[in-house]
Amino acid sequence: MKYIPLGTGSCVPDYRKNSSGALLEINRKLILIDCGTGILHTITKTDYDYKDIDAIFITHLHLDHINDFPALLFALKNDPACHRNRDIQAFGPTGLKEYYKKIKELHGETVVSENYKVEIQEMSNSELEYGPIKVSSQKTYHTKNSIGFRFENDGTVFTSTGDTGYNENVVELCRQANTAVMECSAPQEYVKKTHLSPRRVGKIALEANVSRVIVNHLYPVMDKIPMKEIIKKRYQGKIEIAKVGKIYTI
Ligand SMILES: [Zn+2]
Ligand SMILES: [Zn+2]
Repeated sequence: MKYIPLGTGSCVPDYRKNSSGALLEINRKLILIDCGTGILHTITKTDYDYKDIDAIFITHLHLDHINDFPALLFALKNDPACHRNRDIQAFGPTGLKEYYKKIKELHGETVVSENYKVEIQEMSNSELEYGPIKVSSQKTYHTKNSIGFRFENDGTVFTSTGDTGYNENVVELCRQANTAVMECSAPQEYVKKTHLSPRRVGKIALEANVSRVIVNHLYPVMDKIPMKEIIKKRYQGKIEIAKVGKIYTI
């Protein structure tokens, strides 16, 4: 498995970080996890091609996680170099089907192709098989329907929380993961209950007994915070701060 962050920031504009999004290459499938502002253009800085994306997994419908979704559909339809004829599978929280319906109402045939369909599947505390990959989701502590994802393939486990505060579902989601990507929005004194601080990341990583943590969804204030040192007070495993475009092997 390979994990490539495309956006490590939040809703706050920052051309170096973008909003949320990442590629996951797993068993010859190219998966996009979240689709926030800026990530679509950033794919062109990597060795990957946006036209090759097989499936999209959306954690919740906040714009910093979904704003590039209609832009992706528009690009696939109108890029003269795109000859797609296989369906796109999109997985996400309750409400994603309605969201997609609204996109179609607003943008009509400019985002809809005769050559492929967008197949939406909504998830909450769910499990499914995506080819040989086992995917499960847990409801997180953020919006009414927000979810995090867990991907298991050949004994390797990768998890991604999306936006969340601390709850038991998130610990369960990350349980024994080889790599757990966690949001880490702001320091404890600023952060809302519906987001994680470095202290909360350390607590979840310890309780879930993960091998490696990669933190993302960083507000600008995090540039000045010794995140690793704070997480290390509770969690002794490997800690990394997600970098846009870097390839993490799992
Ligand atoms: Zn967010
Ligand atoms: Zn959010």
